[in-house]
Amino acid sequence: MSVRAGREFLAIPGPTTVPDEVLRAMHRPAVDIYSGPLLALTDGLLKDIARVFNTTGRAYIYISNGHGAWEAALTNVLSKGDKILVLESGRFAIGWGESARRMGVEVEILKGDMRRAVRPAEVEARLKADKGKTIKAILVAQVDTASGVVNDIAAIGQAVRAAGHDALLMVDAVASLGCMPFNMDEWGVDVAMSGSQKGMMAPPGLGFVVANDRAREVHKKAGLRTPYWDWTDREGDQHYQKYAGTPPEHLLFGQRQALDMLFAEGLDNVFRRHQLLAEAVRRAVGIWAEGQAIGFNIIEPSERCDTVTAVLVNSGRNPEALRAYCNEKCGVILGHGIGELSGKAFRVAHMGHVNAPMILGTLSVIEMALNALEIPHGKGGAQAAIDWLGQQVKA
Ligand SMILES: *Cc1c(COP(=O)(O)O)cnc(C)c1O
Repeated sequence: MSVRAGREFLAIPGPTTVPDEVLRAMHRPAVDIYSGPLLALTDGLLKDIARVFNTTGRAYIYISNGHGAWEAALTNVLSKGDKILVLESGRFAIGWGESARRMGVEVEILKGDMRRAVRPAEVEARLKADKGKTIKAILVAQVDTASGVVNDIAAIGQAVRAAGHDALLMVDAVASLGCMPFNMDEWGVDVAMSGSQKGMMAPPGLGFVVANDRAREVHKKAGLRTPYWDWTDREGDQHYQKYAGTPPEHLLFGQRQALDMLFAEGLDNVFRRHQLLAEAVRRAVGIWAEGQAIGFNIIEPSERCDTVTAVLVNSGRNPEALRAYCNEKCGVILGHGIGELSGKAFRVAHMGHVNAPMILGTLSVIEMALNALEIPHGKGGAQAAIDWLGQQVKA
């Protein structure tokens, strides 16, 4: 027997639920690529992408996923043989660094681990030791989607300044943009990147990069530049140059609608909604953890992010059986553990177009699975989430 008929709920950390309004905005014929409305759409999107990153810097829109935006960011400011420092806190900054390495960049990893955030003091110490200023850029993820950690980008920016170092600070905001604040200029971030398919509530296919003046100055001498990713080409007067070819019209229509929805809700409210729903998930996991078989991957509560929670399932218990139950019996798709957490964890995404019924329903389904699979757990996790959310959201 299953109870999965009806709409499937995707609780994976990307792609996320695409709102019906966004799907409808895309369901239309293609338009002339040389006419006014499309040009105005591009101008508005470039302005509003910079707005969500909170920067007066320049925005670029690529037809790509996050991996493409990684490459766009790197090729525009680095040259072969340059050295960069990658701040480890999970998988994603490491992956970004790996693509730099394959392009001929020398990569040093500031050792971290899968269960905690980057320590700004360690960043400062490493940069102070770089007397010859050989490090050209620092790569870090705001949220690492594999571990479920949130890094304090403001404090890392502060650490870079305290070290008196001039390396570019480059931030991956794929799993955080549109879900929590990103104050690029205030934090001293030089280059940031993201994608359309997570907190930005649109289908996969758009990559976003923003760069400040300092980064655009460094760009002039970057040796890794290629025709498709190049910022200078994309700053040309002709509209087609903005996309290095045909604009991804339908994705642009969809992203426009998604941004309109985010702005209509108000970004502060959007961020608060994410905080509340994330905390509801954490309340539930906290109760389940009393049974000893499951627990949080991120040890320090303040380092748990508001967009995805990685839940460890102790040895002898199979997280894949739990994921299969949730999917096949109830139509809820949870994320699997990746990297070191492969086969040892599941992940619950709470990013983008999510509301209380989606999250409370997901938690209830996980609790059904814990019962059905006889995985030891504290009872009443979903109830704890309901109680807490009800206290926060007053009549
Ligand atoms: C999803 C994700 C990426 C990769 O994005 P793709 O669109 O899958 O290429 C990069 N960084 C972070 C933090 C992510 O969560």
